[in-house]
Amino acid sequence: MINPAAPFVIGDDGRRFTYAKFWTLAAKLAHALQAAGAKPGDRVAAQVEKSVEAVALFWACARAGLIFVPLNTAYTTAEMDYFLRDAQPLITVCVPERLPEIYRISEAAGVRATFTLDDKGHGTLADEAMYQDAMLRDEILHWDDPAAILYTSGTTGKSKGAVLTHGNLACNALTLAATWEFSPADRLIHALPTHHTHGLFTAVATVLLSGGCLLLRRRFDADDVVKLLPEATTLMGVPTFYTRLLAHPGLTREAAAHMRLFISGSAPLLPDTHRQFRMKTGQAILERYGMTETGMNTSNPVQGMRRAGTVGLPLMDVEVRVSDRETGAALPKGQDGMIEVKGPHVFAGYWRNDEKTREAFRDDGYFITGDLGRIEADNYLVISGRANDLIISGGFNVYPREVELVLDGLPGVAESAVIGVPHADFGEGVVAVVVMKAGAAFAPAALAAQLADRLANFKQPKAWIEAAELPRNAMGKVQKNVLRAAHRDVLKA
Ligand code: AMP
Repeated sequence: MINPAAPFVIGDDGRRFTYAKFWTLAAKLAHALQAAGAKPGDRVAAQVEKSVEAVALFWACARAGLIFVPLNTAYTTAEMDYFLRDAQPLITVCVPERLPEIYRISEAAGVRATFTLDDKGHGTLADEAMYQDAMLRDEILHWDDPAAILYTSGTTGKSKGAVLTHGNLACNALTLAATWEFSPADRLIHALPTHHTHGLFTAVATVLLSGGCLLLRRRFDADDVVKLLPEATTLMGVPTFYTRLLAHPGLTREAAAHMRLFISGSAPLLPDTHRQFRMKTGQAILERYGMTETGMNTSNPVQGMRRAGTVGLPLMDVEVRVSDRETGAALPKGQDGMIEVKGPHVFAGYWRNDEKTREAFRDDGYFITGDLGRIEADNYLVISGRANDLIISGGFNVYPREVELVLDGLPGVAESAVIGVPHADFGEGVVAVVVMKAGAAFAPAALAAQLADRLANFKQPKAWIEAAELPRNAMGKVQKNVLRAAHRDVLKA
C-alpha cells in the first residue's frame, strides 16, 4: 500500500508533493479539463516545459479517460501545426511565450480551448484548476482504452502517433518496478524530459507504483546530479548523462555510495563508458532497451551479470526474436537480423494509420522494431544497428528522411543525404551531405539559416559537406554506410 503522506515528488525549486497532494493536483487538473468540455476519448495536446504540473497533467488525463499527447517544446510552429491537425485534440496546453502562435494553429485545427502552463506550474490551466474540486470520480477504464499518443517519426518523414493503452503502460510499469526492485525507500533522480516515453512513463510510473520518490530536475546538469547522489538511490538516464558525469571530478566511489542503481537507455551505451563508470564508482550501469511503441522490452538484471554492450534479457511476458529482414523467418541465436517483440506492452497501432500499423506487425503478432541485433548464446540481446538509419542525438530521435525532405526543397539544392556520425557528447550528431544544382554556390551558413524555423534544433545538421554526387547501390538506393564511413570523424574535436 502506498502511504498518501509519503513524498512523491520533490522539485529542484524546493516544492514537495506527497502522494495525496499530487493526486489532488491531478484531480483538479482533470476537473479543469472537463470544465472545458473534455470527455473520455478526447485528446489533450501539451507542449510544455517540465514541471510537477506537467507530470500531473498526464495523470489527470489518465484518470478522466482523456488521451494525452505530449509534444517536445523544441518543435517549431510548422511541426506543431502538423501534430495538431493529425491528433485533433480538444484542448492544447502550451508555454505562455508561444500562446499567440499556438492559439492560432490550434484554432485552425479545430481545438476548442488553449491553456498555458510554465515551468513553475503557473498559467491559465493552473488558474482554472486552483478552485476545482479535489475529489474526482475516476473514469472506469479498460485495458485497451488509449492513454496516450506519442509521436515517433517514420522513415517516410511523416511523424506517426503511437497509441499506447492503459494496459500497455500499467503492465510495463509493474514489470519494471518488480524487475528493478523499486520500493518506497527509492529516490530517483529524474532529469529526463517528460514529453518522451522514458521520462514520462518509464521513470514516473515505475516510481509511482512502488511508493518511492522522484527528485525532479528541470534539466540534466552534471554538477547538480553529482551533488544529489548522496540523497538518492537511483538514476535513469541516456548515455549522454553518463559521459557527462564521467567528465565531472565529483563523480567518485564515495559520492555514489548511496546509489543502488544507475540505469541507461534510449541509445547505445558505449562499452567504454560502462567500464570507466565501473572503475570510478564501483557500480555497473544497468542498460535496458525500449522504444516509444513498446515501452521496455529487455533489461540487464539487477541481481546477476550486467554485460556491457548488451541490453540484457527479455522482461517478464515479453517475447523477443530475431528474424531475417527480408523474409521474416526466425533466425538462430548468434545471427544478426531484425529484432521483433511481442507482449502486453506493445502498442495498439498508429493513430488513424491502419496501413502503417499493418506494416509494423508480422502475421503472428510480432512487432517489427526496426532495430537490428542478435540473441547471444546466454539469451542476452545485442543491438547492432538501426535498419532505418535513425539518428539518436543526445537521446532524441532524428529521422534522416524528414531532414532530407526539407533540405531538398531549398533553392539551389539538388539532393541530400542526412547521416549520423559519432559525437563525443551527443552520441551521434546530424551531418548533411548536399549536392548543389549546377551553378548554385554551396553556402552552409545560408542553408542552416533556412532550417532555423522549420526543424527543431536537435534535428539541424552540425556539419555540412558538399558532394558532387551521392553514392548509390545497384537498386538506386543511397548508400548511407559509405557516407558514414567517409565522414565518421567530421564531428570529432
Ligand atoms: P524512442 O522511440 O525514442 O524511445 O527510440 C527507440 C529507439 O532507441 C529504439 O528503437 C532503439 O533504436 C534505440 N534504443 C533504445 N534503447 C537502446 C539501447 N539500450 N541501445 C541501443 N539503442 C537503443
